[in-house]
Amino acid sequence: MEKTIDPQRKYILDKLYQAFEVVSEGSYVYLCDMKYDYSKWSAEAVQYFGLPGEYMYHAGDIWEEHIHPDDQLNYHKSIEDIFSGMDQGHDMQYRSRDRMGRYVVCTCRGTVLWDADGKPDYFVGNIRNHGSVNSMDSLTGFQNQFGLFEHLNVLYSKQEKANIMMIGVGHFATINEMWGYDFGNIVIHKLVQRLKEQFRNEGVLYRVSGVKFVLLSSTLSLEEMSKRYEILKKEISEKLEVDGYHPNLQIYGSALEVKMFQINPQAMFSCLEYAYNISKERGNGEFHVFKDEIDENRSSLLTLINVIRKSILNDCDDFILYYQPIVYTQTGKLRGAEALLRWQNAEYGLVPPNRFIPIIENDPAFVQLGEWILQKAMTDTKPLLQTHSDFELHVNVSYEQLRQDSFVSSVKNILDETGYPAKNLCLEITERCRLIDVKRLTAIVSELRSIGVCFAMDDFGTGYSSMDILNRLECEIVKIDKVFVDNITNDAKDAKLISAINQMAEIYGSNACVEGVESEEQYEIVRECGVSSIQGYYFSKPLPVETFFEKYVTE
Ligand code: C2E
Ligand code: CA
Ligand code: CA
Repeated sequence: MEKTIDPQRKYILDKLYQAFEVVSEGSYVYLCDMKYDYSKWSAEAVQYFGLPGEYMYHAGDIWEEHIHPDDQLNYHKSIEDIFSGMDQGHDMQYRSRDRMGRYVVCTCRGTVLWDADGKPDYFVGNIRNHGSVNSMDSLTGFQNQFGLFEHLNVLYSKQEKANIMMIGVGHFATINEMWGYDFGNIVIHKLVQRLKEQFRNEGVLYRVSGVKFVLLSSTLSLEEMSKRYEILKKEISEKLEVDGYHPNLQIYGSALEVKMFQINPQAMFSCLEYAYNISKERGNGEFHVFKDEIDENRSSLLTLINVIRKSILNDCDDFILYYQPIVYTQTGKLRGAEALLRWQNAEYGLVPPNRFIPIIENDPAFVQLGEWILQKAMTDTKPLLQTHSDFELHVNVSYEQLRQDSFVSSVKNILDETGYPAKNLCLEITERCRLIDVKRLTAIVSELRSIGVCFAMDDFGTGYSSMDILNRLECEIVKIDKVFVDNITNDAKDAKLISAINQMAEIYGSNACVEGVESEEQYEIVRECGVSSIQGYYFSKPLPVETFFEKYVTE
């Protein structure tokens, strides 16, 4: 139940507010009684942004809803730090949505006033409104991602259905590198021309990033979008010409129906990007329509993603980690464990990661989840180090996490905060990392390696360039994918392949771990292949931390 503010405290709030208002001309003022999370905001802000009223409980949560999805995380973290007493204030910039659904740039400064016991008492500050965000892209004349989100907000507020389509060009960096930026710009210009011709009068086009465009249309069906995509793809790959040259352009595309207005627009956009990545990484440019599958709980995938996204923003509530042991092949003794993410909720039950990670990975919110995973895995397993000082904690890191500029510092901070020895941490990376600039990736790996962290190349053998990554990054461990084990008892070739990969790993100074060993028969064969460790149901399924400890701590 809500704690109602004490009348005496309300009186103080009003008095303090008056005092601050006098010194904050030209900006909006807010004052929050932190004991009751009860705030007073200036009437101009309430009117401009369409807030519920000058007096609000939990104004921070209400305000967060107005902040642009890309800026929400920063804001959320900052407010959390302020309320937990970790931070004394903030001075930040974000984009916030006004009552018409348009984003404006705001700078927000605030400071905490402490009570006599040194506890946070009031949070006071002002917000300056710098006006509308420049949502125009100068090169193409299309609106950018801010413009798209503004448009989506308007559709949402009117509950108007539409279809949304994403079209992009892959590996454009190579075009720029090979032919120069001017040439690249002309190519983009020509592309834009074709897009305009193809979609004239059918909706609004946006340039959402690099060479990725979005069409929001209330006239075209998904089938029609798919047809137009094929025409466009053919035209671009066959006819696009600059100064007599035909640049080889790879086109990808996806689409989705906008019809569920309870779903956060960012969650929906992440699903569109996920479908786009399927077209790019698996479909070889085949148009991919996001299917909002209904699962056995009768919940749609979009709804699930929306709920999971909310739980990330809500301190990663409802997420848990399971631990699957990794054992030495010869002795069967514990070498380490891989932390595996689950999401569990009363309504949806225990949801496995394959259902949500590939989609949510594209969402800016995933970075926060990634940090939570690292922190939780270290906190959970730290007590084990007392008895198993060489324990190897394996944590999966996704491509999106690695791409963040702050990745290295965030891993270092978590190691510091938890007091976890870096030498006990092993980060599992997948072949998808090849999408990151090689120099950057190598720098990330060597910086973390210099403090003791080690790396494992995950799912080895499933992607076409894992060999290349292994070669460049010199991962300490190679995890041989389960596909090599599945049929090992029937096909002698598989055991030979495992032995060969193992020998190759040794050449690189790595050691191999075979995943997915389920039976004694499989184990007997794998044991002969010379690999140093094994992970699989035969030894144990992934376990909740308590069960994992019961089983291994006494070993
Ligand atoms: P992965 O990294 O390859 O993890 C190994 C998966 O194989 C786990 O599935 C594990 O339960 C399963 N497995 C292990 N041994 C056996 C076996 O003997 N038989 C069978 N049938 N399966 C076995 P899980 O936990 O469902 O995770 C699936 C994938 O989700 C992971 O594959 C990983 O790509 C992703 N994932 C899980 N947790 C995280 C995480 O914390 N962060 C990130 N970025 N991805 C994660
Ligand atoms: Ca893994
Ligand atoms: Ca794996």
